[in-house]
Amino acid sequence: MKTKFDQTYMTDILELLLRTPSPTGYTHHIMQKVQQEVGKLGYELTYTNKGCGIVTIPGTSQDRVIGISSHVDTLGAMVRSIKDNGTLKITSLGGFMMGAIENEYVQIHTRDEQAYDGTILTSRPSVHVYEDAREFKRDEANMEVRIDELVTSKKEVQALGIRVGDYISFDPRVQIKPNGFVKSRHLDDKASVASIFGLLKWIKEAAVKPRFTIKLFFSNYEEVGHGSAFIPEDITDFIAVDMGALGDDLSGSERDVSICAKDSSGPYDYQMTSKMIELAEKLEIGYAVDIYPRYGSDASAALRGGRDIRAALIGPGVHASHSMERTHMDAVVNTAALLAAYIMEPVEA
Ligand SMILES: [Zn+2]
Repeated sequence: MKTKFDQTYMTDILELLLRTPSPTGYTHHIMQKVQQEVGKLGYELTYTNKGCGIVTIPGTSQDRVIGISSHVDTLGAMVRSIKDNGTLKITSLGGFMMGAIENEYVQIHTRDEQAYDGTILTSRPSVHVYEDAREFKRDEANMEVRIDELVTSKKEVQALGIRVGDYISFDPRVQIKPNGFVKSRHLDDKASVASIFGLLKWIKEAAVKPRFTIKLFFSNYEEVGHGSAFIPEDITDFIAVDMGALGDDLSGSERDVSICAKDSSGPYDYQMTSKMIELAEKLEIGYAVDIYPRYGSDASAALRGGRDIRAALIGPGVHASHSMERTHMDAVVNTAALLAAYIMEPVEA
């Protein structure tokens, strides 16, 4: 099963995605790259008004339409204000601990397409100077961006073209190890996007026709909860492909595809989830079934958006999510393998 997938291609796509800044709300550049890569495989990507990308692959039957979503948006920040000392106050995009971004290198993206480098620090960043540097609370109000330019005043920062509302992306620090581990920020959810590209390449090269028509949905506002509040009207079955949470009493690993039975938004569809488990067992795909206590997906967004769909959630296991993440290419391949099996043998009406 796994040999069908071009792991080198998936790794290359993953690296390309990881190195493209895409904080939620600032996804037009990455969506263009997704469109280009989809085009290279001979498919067409169309946009929704909100900027989500859709790729349609006709199936043997049109009786059902299976939506498969992944999200290209990531955590990030925005300039909240420019301080008198020439640093920037930030506001978060998405949910993370301030400790997870402290000392990170960033880029500030101005609205006239300039990019400036900087570093996120607390406003008391040196133990040689501030007695309470260690205990100083890591919250938004106490963090700032030190810009790598000759600026010591608000006026000088403004002269660079930096404004309130400019996007800030975190250095992903991508490392792809020869043993298959991938360390990087934003594996949530770019690891899933890479698995979907692996699936798409397999569909193309093996010339397979899925049982039902498929719509790949590249979502761009997942991290703020409304990525798939809209999905194409004809979708009847929806698979959100998003990272598997790991740790505590969860059983998944960085090499497995996680199948989520229930998250904060409630249980996923019984038949679809059971079918995923059955296929993983049958094909000996490394998998785990888990309950995520603090998690909502694009499938939850679609259901909350009022859609009459059944929905499932699967994805590659990602350790230390929304922090310094790590996964393994086995999990990316296992996710593609389970999707491939499902589109050929889905739950029927
Ligand atoms: Zn995600």
